[in-house]
Amino acid sequence: MNSFITDSESTLRLVVFFSVFLLLALLELIIPRRQLTMPKARRWTVNIGISFFNTALIRLVVPLAGVAAAEFAQQRNWGIFNLLDLPPLLSILIFLLLFDLAIYFQHRLFHLVPLFWRLHRMHHTDMDYDVTTGNRFHPASILLSSLIKLGLVLVMGPLSVAIVLAEILLNATSMFNHSNISLPVAADRVLRKVIVTPDMHRIHHSVDEFEHNKNFGFNFPWWDRLFGTYLQQPRLGQEQMEIGIRGFQDRESAGFLSLLMQPLK
Ligand SMILES: [Zn+2]
Ligand SMILES: [Zn+2]
Repeated sequence: MNSFITDSESTLRLVVFFSVFLLLALLELIIPRRQLTMPKARRWTVNIGISFFNTALIRLVVPLAGVAAAEFAQQRNWGIFNLLDLPPLLSILIFLLLFDLAIYFQHRLFHLVPLFWRLHRMHHTDMDYDVTTGNRFHPASILLSSLIKLGLVLVMGPLSVAIVLAEILLNATSMFNHSNISLPVAADRVLRKVIVTPDMHRIHHSVDEFEHNKNFGFNFPWWDRLFGTYLQQPRLGQEQMEIGIRGFQDRESAGFLSLLMQPLK
């Protein structure tokens, strides 16, 4: 099972990506949460273009993929998990939890350090919020988080299958929690106990600075509650709240090249 997952990593990633993407895109048409403010065709071309560009860039530039780094650490007996030698399932579950905690703090760091914020800001300048926002990140921020992730894998020494599962899960949950779908209030309340829902993460994309410094979690909702960054609802409500960053709400700022140059602005 483990080697099946690591051997078919690329196929598995693609299958999960397209299935989750198509399902959410369809649900956005059937049960939309908010009315979009921009024409979908142009925004989607730019956002999807950016995410394919990032995938290609990572393949070219990052010397070691997560699996290779995990195997490298394993051969040298590096990292906590290689030293502890836990049962595989327990080891995978603990890694998924710690990986998500690390992503939470990385996200807070991206908001805290001015240089990192310039790279992360592009994710926030999307003026609408839907499934394509979940993969809209500046290439430099993707490179930076890939290097942080490699460091994390070398220090933690997880099973290679654990890092594949963590990345696939993160990609799927990122598309889910950015989607423009309307969940029943009761379902949102129950889901929010175990997973970050669209209504929870959308608050993080508010133009209001107080609100966009809340709800940093991507996967599990517990870190925000634990570290005091949780916000239940935006001041103006989910349908009325404004999304984006002031100063980047014009048509020119939303173009492909403009987005790539955005950290310099
Ligand atoms: Zn953010
Ligand atoms: Zn986001």
